[in-house]
Amino acid sequence: MIFKNQSANITELRPKPRIFTRSEHNISRSQISESALKVLYRLNSGGYQAYLVGGSVRDLLLGREPKDFDVATDAHPEQIRELFRNSRLIGRRFRLAHVRYGDEIIEVSTFRAQHDDTETDDAQMVNGRIVRDNVYGTLDEDVWRRDLTVNALYYGIDDFSVIDYVGGMDDIKSGRIRLIGNPRDRYIEDPVRILRAVRFAVKLGFRLDPEAEAPIEELGSLLDEMPPARLFEEVVKLFNSGVALQSFEQLRHYDLFGHLFPQTDNLLSEQEGGYPHTLLIRALQNTDLRIAQDKPITPGFLVAALLWLPVYELTRKYMEEGMSEFDAIALASDVVVSKQVKRTSMPRRYSQMARDIWQLQARLKRTRGNRPQRLMKHPKFRAAYDFLLLRVDSGETDQQLADWWTNFIKKQGPSGESAATPRRKRGRRGNRHRPPKNRKQ
Ligand code: ATP
Ligand code: MG
Repeated sequence: MIFKNQSANITELRPKPRIFTRSEHNISRSQISESALKVLYRLNSGGYQAYLVGGSVRDLLLGREPKDFDVATDAHPEQIRELFRNSRLIGRRFRLAHVRYGDEIIEVSTFRAQHDDTETDDAQMVNGRIVRDNVYGTLDEDVWRRDLTVNALYYGIDDFSVIDYVGGMDDIKSGRIRLIGNPRDRYIEDPVRILRAVRFAVKLGFRLDPEAEAPIEELGSLLDEMPPARLFEEVVKLFNSGVALQSFEQLRHYDLFGHLFPQTDNLLSEQEGGYPHTLLIRALQNTDLRIAQDKPITPGFLVAALLWLPVYELTRKYMEEGMSEFDAIALASDVVVSKQVKRTSMPRRYSQMARDIWQLQARLKRTRGNRPQRLMKHPKFRAAYDFLLLRVDSGETDQQLADWWTNFIKKQGPSGESAATPRRKRGRRGNRHRPPKNRKQ
């Protein structure tokens, strides 16, 4: 455990927070999940400080339903572990506790201090980048390491007030995304913050502060050095947000999309306005619509849409060289996926689903004999059929084939409503990346 030396004069220089008492904000305990309240109260009665922090405070202030509840405390991970039998410690770069109640997980993290001592053995920074973040601190230190002002508000369970060191409350009121501290430095420290700033601006309908916006184009290439798994997590959040289309447009606007999907971006830049671009746009619209209707979605379908352009181009090239369509798609899928996972790695089940969807595009053309019956039993048939409809919609292939399948499916009787969905409807795995529903009391 590392403790930071605090010198008295630095403490004196620290800004004072603005405190919004219970009557000065709209957060009520009835909006906080029972599990989160349990965690807050138990920490408090164990003699520790306990605050709701991050996205949940932001969303509650905005009158939105939080996706999950994060708690910050001065208890150290081992102390949290002792207090909650239903907890486990996770993370290396960032050690924290997960407290589980049924399906709901409350993330409890210990206050952390800034990390500027590069001299110790336990160096926190390498080339201006954070590599470890386990220096425990106090609330007034913890606040400065957070990314956005709107994400750095603390709701205390002791007196129900909101503590604001960074002007986050004003930014929430005026709809502004601002970085804490110097945006350039904060992006360099952790380039994923660039994506987060854009993501939250779109998701909340806020505008990105000019100072937060200015360094984005210059620093976008720092994303190329990020761990591919972390980037994929961010991609899922960007496109499962209910505002996938706008997120995509903003990523393109800030020249960030190319750092996530370079193969697709190259082709998009060549053929702006062409049909394949429309397929992706329609897939994103479709995803947003499904989320609005509370229908399940899977990142596998998104991956299929996001990478279809390079797969399609390469397939055509291989076919011109004499390969069969089936083989061409298989090889193109291999080439495109293996390049992509160097940028954003992804669980195999998603890349496999994308491959199946692509491969089935060729098989859907074969409508003779009992092939259609057999094809309908394929676990990814429904997703592939939906994908075909998107291709038709975007003018990539003709209507006739889609109509044939639509009729055929109708004749076979109701075989499930799900589009772009794993077979196990609303099964746990299929919903893994959906925001968990809060159990309200
Ligand atoms: P949501 O969960 O709705 O996507 P969130 O703001 O809760 O939004 P999380 O990723 O759950 O986002 O992170 C919780 C909090 O941790 C954030 O609100 C922010 O204060 C802090 N945080 C997360 N990621 C970073 C980061 N890369 N740099 C600095 N602070 C971060
Ligand atoms: Mg969160």
